[in-house]
This record gives sequence, C-alpha cells and structure tokens, in this order.
Amino acid sequence: MQQQEQQPVLLLIDDSPSIHRLLGFKLKNEGLDFLAAFSGDEGLELAKSNQPSLILLDLNMPIMDGFETLHALKDDPETIEIPVIVLSGTTKPEEKVKAFELGAMDFVCKPFDIHELRVRINSAIRISRLMRMLELRAQIDGLTGLWNRAHFNERMGTELEAAQRGESEIALALCDLDKFKNLNDTFGHPAGDAVLQGFAAVLNAELRSYDIACRYGGEEFAIILPDTNLEQARSVCERVRVKISERVWPNYPKLSATASFGLTHIGADGRTDASAFVDAADTALYAAKEGGRNQVKVYSELPEAGDGPAKLALAS
Ligand code: GH3
Ligand code: MG
Ligand code: MG
Repeated sequence: MQQQEQQPVLLLIDDSPSIHRLLGFKLKNEGLDFLAAFSGDEGLELAKSNQPSLILLDLNMPIMDGFETLHALKDDPETIEIPVIVLSGTTKPEEKVKAFELGAMDFVCKPFDIHELRVRINSAIRISRLMRMLELRAQIDGLTGLWNRAHFNERMGTELEAAQRGESEIALALCDLDKFKNLNDTFGHPAGDAVLQGFAAVLNAELRSYDIACRYGGEEFAIILPDTNLEQARSVCERVRVKISERVWPNYPKLSATASFGLTHIGADGRTDASAFVDAADTALYAAKEGGRNQVKVYSELPEAGDGPAKLALAS
C-alpha cells in the first residue's frame, strides 16, 4: 500500500526540436526524467505507456494541435489524472480560458522565463502528488490501515474482470469476528479496537503482497486473493483463523478472539459478477456462523460439481 517516491517524469510534447533542447538543458539539474514527443499522437502514446508525473504541452503543432491533444488526454481514463501545463506563444485570454476549461492545470506563455517555468513545474508536481495522496487516504480505513469498503467495491470489480480476461483463478474470503458485541461489552470498546487492529496485523503478516485485505464493515473483513486456487485460499484462511485464535492480547490477558470465514472461488474458466461473488462468500460466512463459528466454510462451484448448480462444500 506504500508508494515509493520516484524521480518525477516530465513529458514534453512540442513539435519544435529547439524547445526540447532548451528545456532539456535548462532543467537538467531539476531531478526530472525527460520524455520527448514531437507530435500530439506521439505524446498520447507516451503518456499512456509511461504515465509521466507531468506533461508540458505546446498548443501550436501541425496535424493534431495542443487543444486536440489535451482533449484526448482528458478524455482517456488512463491519462486523465496526469497534470498538464500548456506552453503557448499566444497570450490571447480566450485561448487560456479554453485550455483551462479542457483541464489544463497551468498555462505558461512563450518565450518563458525558465525560473518561472521551473517553479510552475514543481508546483504542479506537488499538487498532483497531494491529490493522489488524498485519493489514496480516502480509501484507507483509519483504525486498521487496511483498504476500506469503498476501495473494496471498486477493486473487487476490477480484479474479477482481470481474472476473467486473463483466465486466471480468483478467491474471495469474508471474515467476521465472532461474538464481537460480547467482547466489547466484556472488555470495553478500546479492547474491541485493539482486536480489530490485531486482526489487521495478522492479515498483513499472513497474506501475500498481491492479496488485497479490506475492512469491509465494523468487524467484518474481506480478502481478495487473485491467482489463487481454492485449496490455497482455504489454507490462507485456516492460517489466519488459527493465528487470531491463538493470539495473546497483552493488555487484556483474559481476552481471546476468534473469527469465522466464508470463502468462494472461481476457476480459470469461471464466470461471475462482483455482486454474485460477494453473495457467495457471504453465504459461506453465514454457514460458518451457523456451524458454530471459528471455522472456514466454502461456497463455490467446485470442480467435482461439474456443470450443475453451485454446491455448499464443508471445509475440512
Ligand atoms: P457474530 O459472531 O454473529 O458475528 O456476533 P457479533 O457480536 O460479532 O455480531 P454483531 O453484528 O451483533 O455485533 C458486531 C459488533 O461489532 C457490534 C459493534 O459495536 C461492534 N463494532 C463494530 N465496529 C466496531 C469498531 O470499530 N470498534 C469496536 N470496538 N467495535 C465495533
Ligand atoms: Mg461478528
Ligand atoms: Mg458482523
């Protein structure tokens, strides 16, 4: 979940080789990596494939001008978030207005003062980093540091689609702490919070880096397990189940916590949608609660079930 601070990449889209040379020279000590495009088309391609931190975009270019390029950049989900500073020989207010309306972050007139351009570049990069950080924070649960429900909702759909497109397996576990209301009533709300944090710590320790652990609701968690077969997913859940049940709570020596797990899975040729997938995991979770809690139950179309309807399979 942690993002590494990398050297910002600046994409310059300008048909004039002399501007490329000038900026490359004047900005060479700014700690930026440069990408060069000499047409709108080339710029769009490089923006998509390299995801630069910032684009400097000339307005006056043959074939595809800066406005068209900006429109295309802001029309594509893959490039919409990349900040764009428009560079132009024009000082006409209506052109500036149009550039901002199309989504430019800033506008700099040529010939530019290199010091001014430098601070505008740094400011645009800083603002877009802050925006990305805020977006990321909005998807993180404050108590546990795991992804929150909003992230889960978005991610479940994209992971399921990716699995189905790439014909890979995927599993989903819903986990709910057992008798958590009793735990809060007996040991107090801070103890409950500590257990939620402890559960998150167990997930962080036991899951692979590409598994996606989310706080789904109050004392309910969801784990998306891409590229995972049913037996692997079941053993991950079992491991987490045992770890949480054996965990010692130093501030609450008499406390013990357990969780129930509902697991579902589709194979490489399986087809489902996010809501049916979540419902299946929820059905399994309900069975785990009914079965006496502190256990893993599976609900999925098992290979041996053939083409028949989904079967409820008891966890071994
Ligand atoms: P079951 O085994 O059937 O899941 O029983 P339960 O008591 O866990 O289920 P129930 O849904 O009745 O109670 C959930 C409790 O979780 C109630 C609520 O106060 C508590 N809870 C939800 N969010 C938090 C939280 O952030 N902190 C704490 N301490 N408790 C929370
Ligand atoms: Mg519960
Ligand atoms: Mg609950």
